[in-house]
Amino acid sequence: MNFTPIIAANWKMHKTPNESIKFYENLKSSCKNLNNIEIILSVPFTSLSSFDAEPPFFKAAQNCHWEDSGAFTGEISVQMIKELGTKYVIVGHSERRHIFGEKNSDINLKIISISKSGLKPIICVGETLSDRENNNTENVLNDQLKQALKNMKDIDNITIAYEPVWAIGTGLTAGENQIKSAHLKIKEILLGLYPKSQDIHVLYGGSVKPKNAKSLIKVPGVSGFLIGGASLNINSFTSIINNVNII
Ligand code: PEP
Repeated sequence: MNFTPIIAANWKMHKTPNESIKFYENLKSSCKNLNNIEIILSVPFTSLSSFDAEPPFFKAAQNCHWEDSGAFTGEISVQMIKELGTKYVIVGHSERRHIFGEKNSDINLKIISISKSGLKPIICVGETLSDRENNNTENVLNDQLKQALKNMKDIDNITIAYEPVWAIGTGLTAGENQIKSAHLKIKEILLGLYPKSQDIHVLYGGSVKPKNAKSLIKVPGVSGFLIGGASLNINSFTSIINNVNII
């Protein structure tokens, strides 16, 4: 793997601001000798101001609104997130697509807004079980990427996370061949749209744990992970980081 690996935690709706500070302090002291690795903590909005991340640690938001400001009760703009020292924003997570009805066109507006602000979108794509069973995985990835990136002139600042929906939070990890072919397909789609996009990170997400991290990071096309459940526990998250850091 020629990329600096990215290990991104997705805490979803877990951890209060105080719990987040404690976790970050613990993480800094338990991850020694980090070299050539980037660690992202995607925390709830309420925790973004609770600690200042220092490289190789960075903060991410888990969502945003695409307008800068306005009458959108309950929403948070990219500018608000940016002012809190955040570097990344996750967009299009399957829980947002499936629980909150987020559409590819919404995701596209968010990506444009994040990119304009200088922050970096982490764009989640992935098929459902029925997409896979109907041999529709490649069409879904193609559709999600094309629509998400509509009107984007370049994609230098984006990261993709391939997350098969059926593997998220289920304990089912996609097979290495399934991951490899999805990652290579994503790279092929991106290169077709943006011929200079060979350096885009494509992360894998879906039940990554300490026991499978070492082999999954070696799968061709995988340049890091997006991790839900195992990122909530300091021991399991540190162990994944250490497994990747020595590769
Ligand atoms: C996720 O929430 O993006 C995720 C991959 O979760 P988990 O690691 O728990 O499957």
